[in-house]
Amino acid sequence: MNHARSLVAGLAVLSLAACAPAPSAPATPTTTPRQDPLPGTKLSVEQLRQQMFHVSAGRRLKPTSWPNGARVAVGLSFDVDNATATLSTGNLDYEVISRGEYGAVDGVPRLLRMLDRQQVPASFFIPAVSAVLHPQMLKDIQASSLAHEVAVHGWIHERLPLLNDEKEEQRLLNQSLETLTQLSGKRPVGYRAPSWKFSGWTMGQVKAAGFLYDSSLMASDDAYELLLDGQPTGIVELPIERILDDFPYFGGNADGSNPSLGDVYEVFQSEFDVAYEEGGLYLLTMHPHLIGHRSRAAMLERLVAYMKGKPGVWFATHEQIARYVKDTVK
Ligand SMILES: [Zn+2]
Repeated sequence: MNHARSLVAGLAVLSLAACAPAPSAPATPTTTPRQDPLPGTKLSVEQLRQQMFHVSAGRRLKPTSWPNGARVAVGLSFDVDNATATLSTGNLDYEVISRGEYGAVDGVPRLLRMLDRQQVPASFFIPAVSAVLHPQMLKDIQASSLAHEVAVHGWIHERLPLLNDEKEEQRLLNQSLETLTQLSGKRPVGYRAPSWKFSGWTMGQVKAAGFLYDSSLMASDDAYELLLDGQPTGIVELPIERILDDFPYFGGNADGSNPSLGDVYEVFQSEFDVAYEEGGLYLLTMHPHLIGHRSRAAMLERLVAYMKGKPGVWFATHEQIARYVKDTVK
């Protein structure tokens, strides 16, 4: 072997070494901590009791009769979210935003006309940003002779567990209250959490703010007093329910795919029929950008007319219902 050949062979080895991938380090397991999906399994009964009853149902506030001997109280509520939930996420998808905008442009005006025709009052839970961005809505709501109620529904429909910040939550609650008070000329007495979701601080802040009632929870068909860590708060809960909400049927995952207004009508009417039989409370949660569409508003009007056709039905705002049960049930 001559020197030249050995040099070439040596270069080839070097060149191979340069092109070959560096020898990889031995694989190490990822160190991301695994989130326990079932932390409740490791808690004591006492710890579970504290979690379960941080916010819970106290005494039932079911009157033996409603004003003027009525059998059932009906509270219609409209959550005027419009585009705020989308804006809160920073997702500037104008197809989705315009779907919310429909609530201000056509939804609220059509529903107000329907309420006027039927002569029944309603409660409007308005994220403050929604009222600021479309000031005409609030003016129209307040222009009605039916004395509709305006109540709090967050600043920009912020999901409080996602916000996960006690001070920020307090700031947004204060800002919502101040803004709605200034715009409507009256301090709201009702609270409904955006998406009905409480953080661990919500109940305490709602109590400290002096609200008469909350309407975000669903431990009963009838009104009840809310407890905070087992102690009576004096706050009336006016319970909502997913089956008595237009959102699961028309919004959310359904996203308009439910073509049967008749099915929704049947659920809403059957719930009313039993509330009427039992002498209870019947609350509907609706969204002007969903129920305010032509066919759906017509379905709602058919339901209102059906309920009005029965004797002994008290249509009232949530505020009127909360005051009545608080004063009547001792
Ligand atoms: Zn809402």
